[in-house]
Amino acid sequence: MSTLILDGKVVRAAGLPELKARIEALMKPPTLAIIQVGDREDSTSYIKAKTAFGEKLGVKIKHIKLAEKISEQELIAKISECNQDETIKGIIVQLPLPIALDQDAIIEAISPKKDVDGLTSFNVKRWLEGREDAVIPGTTRGVKELLEYYKIDLFGKHVVVVGRSMLVGKPIAAYCLNENASVTICHSKTADLASETKRADVLIVAAGKPGLIGANHVREGTVVVDVGINTVKGEKLEDEIPSKKLVGDVDFEAVKDIASAISPVPGGVGPMTVLAIFENLADLCVKE
Ligand code: NDP
Repeated sequence: MSTLILDGKVVRAAGLPELKARIEALMKPPTLAIIQVGDREDSTSYIKAKTAFGEKLGVKIKHIKLAEKISEQELIAKISECNQDETIKGIIVQLPLPIALDQDAIIEAISPKKDVDGLTSFNVKRWLEGREDAVIPGTTRGVKELLEYYKIDLFGKHVVVVGRSMLVGKPIAAYCLNENASVTICHSKTADLASETKRADVLIVAAGKPGLIGANHVREGTVVVDVGINTVKGEKLEDEIPSKKLVGDVDFEAVKDIASAISPVPGGVGPMTVLAIFENLADLCVKE
């Protein structure tokens, strides 16, 4: 049996015409503000990818670059300006922020009406409650739409999520629960990771640890979704960060012949997250 590759680039390309039509149907082309603090090479590269995709859709991107040493008050003031600017319909604060800044406080400064990443507590609460009008966090929406495209139904399945962050692991676990899966969440203190992951029908990994999941973590026929994005030294592929190679949390070569389906890195969840952010933007423009 050949393994199905969950190809985020293909799914994103398939979703582009409908989303473009939704954006074109708006009264005015929306502007998405992307706030970058500092000069991280990986952040710059992700912003480039979002900008290129946004431009294909007719969305104006306002890339606001701020100094690494900006104070929390100054950054919050910048976000408030974007909240008040009526031409700006969505705001992304590119994460991670420099450690001196309180990430939660910064995210909370984004108006929930412009929170295309779905990370403010207002939106997270709605999402956890399973409300229809919730903004689904970008990565979670990306995983959801990738699985839906390939008709992988979670109903009654055992899903194991590795990672429990508020930004990625927990919202993905909540989505799986809302889809009537039984969910196990693993983390760095899980005593025997392999014995947990081997019980999965669907294994979703978001740990930020390259190669964490190998052949001994996966049983025959499991669907494996690799959310991790890690940069390692090596020969780069197209579209990647200059001089760095992107890998996921799953050892793709070791797992690909055991899994029934697997998402690659790059080219799996990453492109889907970009699509999801612009879908959230279109939803928020309509809700206004
Ligand atoms: P965090 O560092 O916030 O969380 C990592 C989680 O993984 C934690 O819950 C941690 O456990 C767990 N973990 C770490 N090491 C292990 C281990 N050895 N065994 C089991 N669990 C472990 O990262 P994020 O959630 O923000 O991101 C996770 C990954 O997803 C990163 O690689 C990130 O780059 C990627 N990402 C990808 C996106 C995409 O679009 N594809 C978007 C956003 C993020 P504990 O809680 O105990 O510390």
